[in-house]
Amino acid sequence: MGAPLDPKTTINLPRTEFPMKANLPQNEPKWLEKWEKTGIYERIRECRKGSPIYVLHDGPPYANGALHEGHALNKTLKDFVVKSKTMAGFDSPYVPGWDCHGLPIEIKVDESLGRKKLEMAPLDVRQACRKYATKYLELQRDQFKRLGVFGRFDQPYSTMEPPYESVIVRTLFEFMERGAVYKGLKPVYWCIHDKTALAEAEVEYATRTSPSIWVKYRLTSDPAKIDSRLAGKKVSTIIWTTTPWTLPASMAVTFHPKLDYVALEHAGEIYIVADALAKATVESCNLTGATEIARFDGGKMEYATFAHPFLDRKVLGVLGDYVTIDQGTGAVHTAPSHGADDFYTGVKYKLDQTCNVDEAGVLRHGLPEYDGKKVFAANQPIVDLLKSRGVLLAEAKIEHSYPHCWRCHNPVIFRATEQWFISMEAPVDSSTLRQRALDEIKKVKWLPSWGEERISNMIATRPDWCISRQRVWGVPIAVFFCEACGKLLESKQVNQAVVDMFASEGSDSWYRHPAQEIVPQGTKCPCGGASFRKESDIIDVWFESGCSHAAVLGREPGLPWPADLYLEGGDQYRGWFHSSLLCAVGTRNQSPYRAVATNGWTLDPQGRATSKSLGNGVDPVEIANRMGGEIVRLWVASVDFQEDVTVSEDLMKRVAENYRKIRNTFRYILGNLYDFQPQQNCVAFADMLPLDQYMLLRTAEISRQVVAWYGSFEFHRIYHQLNEYCTTDLSAEYFDVLKDRLYTAAPDSRARRSAQTALWRIGEALVRLLAPITTFTSEEVWSFMPKISGRPESVHLSYFPKDTELTGDVSGVAHLQGLRADFDALMVVRGEVLKALEVARQEKMIGSGLEAAVTIHAPQDRLALLERYQKDLRFLFIVSGVELKHAETGNAAPALRVEVSKAPGQKCERCWNYSVHVGESPRYPTLCERCVAVLAEIEGRRGN
Ligand SMILES: [Zn+2]
Ligand SMILES: [Zn+2]
Ligand SMILES: [Zn+2]
Repeated sequence: MGAPLDPKTTINLPRTEFPMKANLPQNEPKWLEKWEKTGIYERIRECRKGSPIYVLHDGPPYANGALHEGHALNKTLKDFVVKSKTMAGFDSPYVPGWDCHGLPIEIKVDESLGRKKLEMAPLDVRQACRKYATKYLELQRDQFKRLGVFGRFDQPYSTMEPPYESVIVRTLFEFMERGAVYKGLKPVYWCIHDKTALAEAEVEYATRTSPSIWVKYRLTSDPAKIDSRLAGKKVSTIIWTTTPWTLPASMAVTFHPKLDYVALEHAGEIYIVADALAKATVESCNLTGATEIARFDGGKMEYATFAHPFLDRKVLGVLGDYVTIDQGTGAVHTAPSHGADDFYTGVKYKLDQTCNVDEAGVLRHGLPEYDGKKVFAANQPIVDLLKSRGVLLAEAKIEHSYPHCWRCHNPVIFRATEQWFISMEAPVDSSTLRQRALDEIKKVKWLPSWGEERISNMIATRPDWCISRQRVWGVPIAVFFCEACGKLLESKQVNQAVVDMFASEGSDSWYRHPAQEIVPQGTKCPCGGASFRKESDIIDVWFESGCSHAAVLGREPGLPWPADLYLEGGDQYRGWFHSSLLCAVGTRNQSPYRAVATNGWTLDPQGRATSKSLGNGVDPVEIANRMGGEIVRLWVASVDFQEDVTVSEDLMKRVAENYRKIRNTFRYILGNLYDFQPQQNCVAFADMLPLDQYMLLRTAEISRQVVAWYGSFEFHRIYHQLNEYCTTDLSAEYFDVLKDRLYTAAPDSRARRSAQTALWRIGEALVRLLAPITTFTSEEVWSFMPKISGRPESVHLSYFPKDTELTGDVSGVAHLQGLRADFDALMVVRGEVLKALEVARQEKMIGSGLEAAVTIHAPQDRLALLERYQKDLRFLFIVSGVELKHAETGNAAPALRVEVSKAPGQKCERCWNYSVHVGESPRYPTLCERCVAVLAEIEGRRGN
C-alpha cells in the first residue's frame, strides 16, 4: 500500500472548454463563416435527399431599405419552420426572394435624379432603379444571414431577373388567352403639367383657393313619386362644387340612402337638400324664409331625373353612402370620369364615363364657352354660363387642402384613363375567377383560423383587378396594337416570342427593341396591317409577386408545386396571399399554397406600431451585433407570433438573461462529461439509478411535446417550456442533487456513470430540440459533445431525438409507470424538506443543508413510498441524514411533517456530508465512511 491519496485531488470537478461567456457578437460571425465554407445549406439538401419534401415558399420583402423588426420576426419564424421540418425528417428547401420593381424604388430614384429623369431614356432610369434594388437586396441578404437564417442565398429569386420576368409575362398572357383581361377606364390622380398619372404616394396636399358654387338642378321626373306633397310643384335640388370645370361631365346627383332630406319652398320653387345641411344652404343661397313642406329619406331620390344645368342631358338621381354632411348640400354632383366614388357609382348605375379632358388638362367636345380651355381656366367661363342660364344660386371662394403633384407642385386633377383589368368574373373551369378563388380558400388551412373569413370577404367584394401602371420600373404589359386599326394584336405566337425574349434578355428588351424587331416575321393583324405599336404601361407589382409560385416552384425536382406553407404578416391578406391566389387560380385553377400562417405587427411596450419615424423600435441588426443574433432569435421564439408582438430593448435584455440560463445548463452538462465516452461508459437504462431514469422519462415526455409544438408552429410554448425545464427541472433540482454523486463518487462507478449517461442523453436531446431556435449556440454545444461514430458534423443535419435515444427500449421495464409516479411524489416531499431547511437556516440553526439531518413524519402510504427509496433520500434532499417516522394519525395532524436537527457527527473534508463515522479510518481520519470506500476503490484501480 502506497501513501494515502490527497482527498482533494480525488474530487471529479467539472471541466470544459465550453465558455461560460458566450461572446455572441464575436463568435456568431465565425460560425457563419464556417457554415459558408462547408456549404451548410447544400449539405442539408444532400442529407435529406429522398425524404418527403416540405416547401415553405418565401414571400419576397421589398428591396428598399435595411431590415426592421418586422422583417426579423418574419424571416426568423420561417427559419424556425424550415429548420424544424428538416430535423423532423423532411427535405425542406428554402429559396429566399426579393420584390424589386415598383413605385417606392422609382420614387427614390426620381428624388435622386430630380428633373433630370424627365429627359432620361426609360432604359437609363431602369438601370438606376436596378442598381438601387440590387444594393438593398444585397444588404438585406447579408442581414438575414447574420440572424442565422439558412437558405439558398446564393441563388435567391428576384422579380427583376430575366427568368422571373418571363414568368410574369407568360402568366399575363395565360390570363389574356383565357379572355380574362380587358382595357377599361379608371380615374387616377393626373398631373396636367407632367402629363402623367400619379400614385397616391406621389400626391401632396397644399392649400389652394377655389371657386365655391351652388347650382340648381331642375327635377324632370314626376315629383309626386318622391313625395305626394310635391305633386305639381316646380322642384329642384341644389349641388355644391369647387370644381366648376367638372360640370360638363356631370352625369348624376348622389343622395345618401339613409339620411333625411327636406323639401324647402321659397318664392314658389321647391329645393331638395339634406336636412342636416338645410340651414347652411338657406344661408349660402339666400333663401331666407324658406319653409319645409315635406321630409323623406334619400332613398326616395333614386332614379329621379334632373336637367343638366347647361347641356342637353338627363342627369340621374343615384344613391351612395359616401355622401357626408360636413359640407355642401347632401346632393352631390357626380362626374364618373373625375372622381373615385363617382367612378364606382358610375359603374354601378352604368353612367357614361367618357373623359373629355385630355392629358394636358384641356376640355374637349364641349360648348364654345369653355371648349379648348385648360381645366382651371375653364372655371370662370362655366360659372358665367351657369349665371346666364339662371341656375347659379350662389358663388364664393374657398381655401381648402387640395392635392398637388409632388414633382412639379401644380394642382392635380382626377381623370379617368384607360387601364388594364383582370375580370373577377372571368371564366375558370365552368365557374368564375372569383368563385373558384373562394372555393380554393376553403381547402387551405389558415392560421389563425379567422384568416379564412378575412380573405374570403376581400375576394368576394373586390372590384376587377387593375393591373396597369403608367410607370417605368417594372415589367411591361408586353402587348402590341395594330397601327392601322388600333386593335390589340392577339397571337399566341407573338406572345411566345415575347416570353422567350424576356427569358433571355429580361424586360429591358421591351425598351431596347422596336416593335418590328420583336414580332415574328410576317405577323399580320386580321385587318391586314403589319406595323405595330408597343403598349407602354407596366404591370402592377402585386401581379409580379403573385407569380412567384410559378417562378420558383414546380421547375426543379426538389421544389414541387404547390407550396406547403406561406407565412407572412397579416397585411398580406390584401397583398401577396391575395394576388398569389388569383394568379394561381386564374392560370392553374388551384391555390398555390396548402396552408397560410400570419404573424402580427411589432409594437412598442405602449402598444404603438414600431416605425422609423417614431423611433420606438429596435434595430434587429444592431441588436445582433451588440447582443447576438441568438438573442433576436430567442425574442422571436418568446412571442406568440400570431398576435401582435412587443419589442423593446428591455425585452431583449430579459431574453438575454434567459439565454444565459440555457447556456449554463449546457455548460453544466458538458463540464461533467469530460471523462465520459459514450461507447464505453454508457449505462443501460435498466441499470441506471432511479432518479436518472426518472429524469430521462421526463425529458422524453418534454421532447415529444416540443416536437409536436414545432409541428403546430407554437414556438413560444417551446421557448417557455424549455426555459422552465432548464432553470427549474434541471438546474434547480436535478443538477443540484447530482453534484454530490458526480463530484465525489469514484470516477468509474456505476452511480457516476449513470448520472453522466443521463446528462449526456439530456444534452444530446436538448441541443437538438433547441437547434431550430438557438442556431448558433446549439452548433457550438454540438462541437463540444462527446464524439460518437455516425454523428453528423453539424447539429443542423441531425434529427429530433426519439424516445428510444433517451430511454432505450423500455417496453420490458415493467416498473416505469410506478417510478414516474413515485418520483413525482418524492419531489413534492423534497419541496417540503427544502422549506423546512430554509426556516432552520433563517433561525441560524444550520448553514448549508448538509449540516442538517431531517426526520420526516409521514402517514402510512407516504411512509411506504419513502421507505422504498430510503437510501436515496438524503441525496435527493441534500442533507446528511433522513429518518422516517410514522405520523401520529389524528384529525389535526398534518399529512407530512418535517423536523430539522443538526446532523450528528463531523463534516467530511471531502464530500462535506456530516457523519458519525468520520475519524474511524486511520488512513483517512478526516473522511466519512462513503469517501473512505471511494478512495479505497480508486487506490485499487490505480494499484492495478
Ligand atoms: Zn406634375
Ligand atoms: Zn389592324
Ligand atoms: Zn465524505
